[in-house]
Amino acid sequence: MTGLRQRPVVVVDPGHGGRDPGNPGRFFPNGISEKDVNLGIGRLLRAELQRRGIGASLTRTTDTLIDLRDRAGFCRDDCELFVSVHVNAMPTGRRTASANGVETYFLSDAKTEDQRRVARMENDAIRFETDTPVRPNADLAFILRDLQQNEYLRESARAAELVQGQVAEIHPGGGRGVQQAGFMVLSTARRPAILIETGFATHRGDAAFLASAVGQRRLAGAVADGIVAYLLEFERKLAIDGGGR
Ligand SMILES: [Zn+2]
Repeated sequence: MTGLRQRPVVVVDPGHGGRDPGNPGRFFPNGISEKDVNLGIGRLLRAELQRRGIGASLTRTTDTLIDLRDRAGFCRDDCELFVSVHVNAMPTGRRTASANGVETYFLSDAKTEDQRRVARMENDAIRFETDTPVRPNADLAFILRDLQQNEYLRESARAAELVQGQVAEIHPGGGRGVQQAGFMVLSTARRPAILIETGFATHRGDAAFLASAVGQRRLAGAVADGIVAYLLEFERKLAIDGGGR
């Protein structure tokens, strides 16, 4: 029992797919890349949400590619939250072996080099889309323009905070905090939206956790708990603001 009075709808978006493998997953078992882990966690998250009485659906249920800008459109008027699931990777360098842990993003301009790195890495998926011409500057302008129309900034930031609080508890690499950056996949969202970097494929411990059935299940359960906490808070706020509407 979650205490939710309504039956809210959440859309879960397993990142990448099809000819876009996502990051290659340095320490994932052979033949597994980010797109597979995202789909595994996404399916389990849908099940965990449904178990908690939430109407949950996926942007993709198979190994197929959806354009970045089409994904958030699966979360429409009757949908309370869009959740994109990804795996982080640290480029080769001094910090490669040590960087680990989970972080949750909402859409806003990046403030740190790490945030810019993650947004670049995820936005780079656009090169796998056949119909979308790659125009880095135009794309950046597109994101910045959308930022100004981001009426759900506060809700998205709060959802990120509540989800991050739960996943950091169960993650072997711990939490890296709530983050913000210009993700193309979130820029077309017209509802509250977050993106979870579930851990580093370039870290031995994180990669083993993410590739395991137990790890994926624990992550999905924790994310679902965070989402329930957000939805409960949102329901309470509506009840107060709406005066029992
Ligand atoms: Zn990704």
